[in-house]
Amino acid sequence: MKNALFENIVVGSGPGGAIAACLLAEAKREVLIFEEGEAFDKNQIEPFSLDEMKLRYRNGGITMAFGKPRVQYVEGATLGGGSEINSGLYYRLPEAIKDRWQKEYGCELDGLEKHAEIIEKDICVSLMPRTLPITSLKLKEGADALGWKCVETPRWHDYKKDERQTASKTYIPRAIAAGAKVLSGAKAIRVQKNGDGWLVKLNNNQAIGCKNLFLACGAIQTPLLLQKSALIGASKTLHMHPTIKAIAHFPQDVNSRDMGVPVHQIKEFENISMGCSISSPHYLSTSMLGVSDGLSLVRGDWKHLASYYAMIVPEARGAVRKLPFFGDAFVSISLTRNDLKNLSIALKKLCEVLFAAGADALYPTIGGIKPLTERADIDKIPDILPVKQSALMTIHLTSSMIDFIDQWGALKSAKNLFISDASILPSAPGVNPQGVLLSLVRRNIAKFLKEQ
Ligand SMILES: Cc1cc2nc3c(=O)[nH]c(=O)nc-3n(C[C@H](O)[C@H](O)[C@H](O)COP(=O)(O)OP(=O)(O)OC[C@H]3O[C@@H](n4cnc5c(N)ncnc54)[C@H](O)[C@@H]3O)c2cc1C
Repeated sequence: MKNALFENIVVGSGPGGAIAACLLAEAKREVLIFEEGEAFDKNQIEPFSLDEMKLRYRNGGITMAFGKPRVQYVEGATLGGGSEINSGLYYRLPEAIKDRWQKEYGCELDGLEKHAEIIEKDICVSLMPRTLPITSLKLKEGADALGWKCVETPRWHDYKKDERQTASKTYIPRAIAAGAKVLSGAKAIRVQKNGDGWLVKLNNNQAIGCKNLFLACGAIQTPLLLQKSALIGASKTLHMHPTIKAIAHFPQDVNSRDMGVPVHQIKEFENISMGCSISSPHYLSTSMLGVSDGLSLVRGDWKHLASYYAMIVPEARGAVRKLPFFGDAFVSISLTRNDLKNLSIALKKLCEVLFAAGADALYPTIGGIKPLTERADIDKIPDILPVKQSALMTIHLTSSMIDFIDQWGALKSAKNLFISDASILPSAPGVNPQGVLLSLVRRNIAKFLKEQ
């Protein structure tokens, strides 16, 4: 395939790349998809297991944004990207954020709901028709006791077949059925101009040409690839939802191996979201690493334990930079004092709702804090989260390309290169971002198809 010329190449097969490839292929355009990660069959890997982390997460999930404090972040690296390893919780773009994006970023977003409606059918967005996981109901119980708004978040899930819907089960098979070709295990290491088109160099020494190039490598890898290709400078607009967790101990069993995905989220407060995390023994152990005797507590008592989170929309923006002689990106973010204050407020509210739900001990992921055993203990959480001791993480990375693209995802500095991943969101949307990303990419591809 050396220097073969394709009409369209899509690099990255997460939700953004998959929907772009599908729409292009269904419009009878020639499409080739490169995906760095591997494809796995339905029952090959247990969801949310250690094996899944090893095989489908970038660097086994051990990736860090440096700063004060550091924020651990997670990216999927597999056919289907992040959609394969996540819970599939789905939101449309909230109205307040839509207004802000229209006013502050000049985005034309009229008609976005129409795209969302189609997407919701494509990926089977639905509420859980059966009894919800106890850990999820506990959050609702606490929120109801406090009079806080708590919603069941719909998911990408076909409940008739009881099948999690992901990019590799929805848009990628549709793209293939419409003629697209997919190469997994194919990493783009550089892209360069080739007349009016592009040449994509792969890790196996192949170089493949195309007219239009769609990059959908995710909010970290897309700016990294473009920096390695000397097409942009450092990205300084990375946004995310910094998240802090608290493990709750309940007097009764709340956890089980077949618990399923918790779906409730508290939406009472602006810029703060709270919910229940995956709470398998392996995930609990990871969160309890900083607690003395935490691991033995998980071993002996995991059925009484569940992991909950509070996340905020921060003021701070982070950076993605390439490092000389090093393959991975250098990612950094310096949360502001306000961000640390808001994270503390969010954590205190989370503890409040968990006590209201009947928890008898709480283990916030702040080193050096003793377990909280009563409501009054919440005051022991510092008003500004301590920089060194706080274990923060994020699974929502967005907005890293906004300085370099127009509102339709087209690179400003060169023709025929389009960005189709979470890096195009003007800001972190305050809700799980996949649904928002899908509707933005759908809108952008519709415009592309109209014009070309
Ligand atoms: C554990 C977890 C849980 C989450 N839960 C939810 C949730 O419930 N709801 C929600 O809305 N969002 C959730 N998210 C976030 C969501 O998964 C992401 O927002 C979404 O996947 C971003 O899609 P994307 O297309 O931008 O990139 P990604 O999904 O990151 O896909 C990018 C793909 O590109 C590939 N790639 C990267 N570089 C290259 C290269 N150079 N060459 C070839 N291929 C490359 C990667 O391997 C990857 O497969 C979660 C994320 C994680 C990690």
